[in-house]
Amino acid sequence: MNPKDIPDNPYLLLTPGPLSTSKTVKEVMLRDWCTWDDDYNLGVVQKIRTKLIQLASCSEAYTSVLMQGSGTFSVEATIGSVLPSHGKLLVLANGAYGKRLAQISNRLNIETVVHDSGEVNHPDMELLESTLQQDQGITHVVVVHCETTTGMLNPIEKIGRVVKSHNKIFIVDAMSSFGGIPIDVEKIGIDFIISSANKCIQGVPGFGFIIAKKEALEKTKGFARSLALDLYDQWKTMEDGHGKWRYTSPTHTVRAFMQAIHELEEEGGIEKRYERYQENHSVLVEGMKKLGITCLLPESLQSPFITSFYNPSSGKYDFKEFYERLKSKGFVIYPGKVSVADTFRIGNIGHVFPDDMHKLIKQIEESVFW
Ligand SMILES: *Cc1c(COP(=O)(O)O)cnc(C)c1O
Repeated sequence: MNPKDIPDNPYLLLTPGPLSTSKTVKEVMLRDWCTWDDDYNLGVVQKIRTKLIQLASCSEAYTSVLMQGSGTFSVEATIGSVLPSHGKLLVLANGAYGKRLAQISNRLNIETVVHDSGEVNHPDMELLESTLQQDQGITHVVVVHCETTTGMLNPIEKIGRVVKSHNKIFIVDAMSSFGGIPIDVEKIGIDFIISSANKCIQGVPGFGFIIAKKEALEKTKGFARSLALDLYDQWKTMEDGHGKWRYTSPTHTVRAFMQAIHELEEEGGIEKRYERYQENHSVLVEGMKKLGITCLLPESLQSPFITSFYNPSSGKYDFKEFYERLKSKGFVIYPGKVSVADTFRIGNIGHVFPDDMHKLIKQIEESVFW
């Protein structure tokens, strides 16, 4: 079959990843690559590593590492590899992904302190300041940038200033935001920032990546609590082997990711993509408002990546029914994950455009059965 003849997806994924990708991203997966050959290592992997550092607005003081698995594997690789055995991690949590950071840390027997500010609030900055002043044992602080549970964007610049003023290592899970909003990683002072292939860069699932301050990463040799998820070893092999992965690399996914980065550049870079996501978000929210469906978060806390809406309160409303109706009309939405409210979610990221959002609103309007 000619790739041009491959039928379009039956529906658009309005989810936080995997998400809808362009046909051209899928097309480049139609050839096979040798994981040990220079065509792949130098021609694809090394180029991606350099591009990632540029996308994070970092100088050569930073490096990047690619890691097999979904995003969580890269988070676990980072937490498990950068904290020394006597380290202590402060987790700022306000949703399921923040809780997962604490779960990973606890599972690895790392001493862990959790500040849970609740699902609809930013982290408590005064508590952060006083904790770092009083608890000298804390060595690292971690926070989620866009908490995908609600769609909340956490203030990493403000948090970074406090963390760095106490000279702690700062880790950010920017899984659902990296590539979709400008992040000045070096200026903020982030030591390790984590994301994955299948979110705002608009690639397909299969690996994650870590952008790290070299000085911080170089000190972590031998810290890892896992062999396969050893961030330092993975980096060292990639660095010394000029793009070599330690174990089988997800070659097709990686090649698709390079294409996705080209397409991000063609779009005009992160700033332009951010504008598109913001426009997707406002078309969505305006349209929903007219239908009487309101957002969980105030606009001031909201990211443009994914939005939580209150389920309509009518007794006739049923999420599953709503979901099936929209799916049959070409849109897959996402259930809610918030524990304090009855919600559903709609993602704006991926190969999705304002025009799609207008169509979605029209379909929602026609689907109202409550
Ligand atoms: C998607 C996501 C992850 C990783 O999830 P995986 O299912 O492992 O890819 C981690 N943190 C956040 C904030 C996310 O949105």
